[in-house]
Amino acid sequence: MLNKIDYSKKQIIDMLSLKNSDELNDLYEKAYQIKLDNIGGLVYFRGIIELGNVCEKDCYYCGIRKSNNKVNRFVFDKETIIECAKWCYTQNYGSIVLQSGESKDKNYVNYITELLKEIKKIGNGELGITLSLGEQDEDTYKAWYNAGAHRYLLRVETTNNSLFRSLHPKSHSLEERIKCLDILGKLGYQVGTGVMIGFPGQTVEDLANDIIFFKEKDIDMIGMGPYVRHSDTPFGQYLDNSDEVKKERLELGLKMIAVARIVLQDVNIATSTALQALHPLGRERGLKAGANIIMPVITPKIHRKDYMLYEDKPCMEDDAEDSKINIIKMVENIGEKVVLGKWGDSKHFSIRKNIK
Ligand code: SF4
Repeated sequence: MLNKIDYSKKQIIDMLSLKNSDELNDLYEKAYQIKLDNIGGLVYFRGIIELGNVCEKDCYYCGIRKSNNKVNRFVFDKETIIECAKWCYTQNYGSIVLQSGESKDKNYVNYITELLKEIKKIGNGELGITLSLGEQDEDTYKAWYNAGAHRYLLRVETTNNSLFRSLHPKSHSLEERIKCLDILGKLGYQVGTGVMIGFPGQTVEDLANDIIFFKEKDIDMIGMGPYVRHSDTPFGQYLDNSDEVKKERLELGLKMIAVARIVLQDVNIATSTALQALHPLGRERGLKAGANIIMPVITPKIHRKDYMLYEDKPCMEDDAEDSKINIIKMVENIGEKVVLGKWGDSKHFSIRKNIK
């Protein structure tokens, strides 16, 4: 592997602390070159289907938290989701992500299992499936893996326990979330996690510790993004949301992608819609900073507005077909290529598992 270096915490903090624009450009270029050396100038699609917004959790920053009674709750029926998955397959997306609020309800768990089995019948199982359905017990993760899911994204949001406490009610546990990541890895999933970047109280040292955590846990995929406020949440009500603060969060989000690429080298890293919420070219800039995954929103428009984890979420009115064309153009404009029809698995996972 090229450029494989073990970076110290101090080196990671130094990279994340850069402010000067020439130094920042050097950082992004270095990360980009590492992406080219390890993965190539290739971008993989994950069509994201936000299948429901019912959530048992009450995270203080999230627009669809249990206590937000302004939310119109929904769960799409099986037919609608299968239609979305078929559309992704015929459009050659290669992979989908099924995401929803967290529910351990047995009926919901079984519903997902049945859905997965149906989706695996599309094109003889050619569609790759990532799940992002929160903390579950081992039996549930196992049932979903056996039904056809092979990647799982579960963000820890922060690895600093006291910050985790500031973001969540007492009943939520960082330890539990990390335990879930371990179970997912043990079961054979490609494991993804990520953090929220630039929320009040978080320091550059915290973010450096997050990247060290990704490395120590041998994480395969990173899905992280800058904090974007939702004002109908306890966390979002009183926070500074000025353009200056948003600019800082965007820059920190890009630096985190770049430094994660430099330190972790061969993992999949998503360029998030939260970057785009802070800047119209946020997703392109994420790719140029080292990301290689993009997740076009496929959720039927009827409920997109009901899945607002944060405010100013982009792509609310995008037609899925136009969005595909626009993203391909955007990727080509920065000199990269969208790979259609492939799962785009994490190279780190393949190496870790000795898969050729
Ligand atoms: S962040 Fe996830 S688990 Fe927390 S309230 Fe929002 S949807 Fe639920």
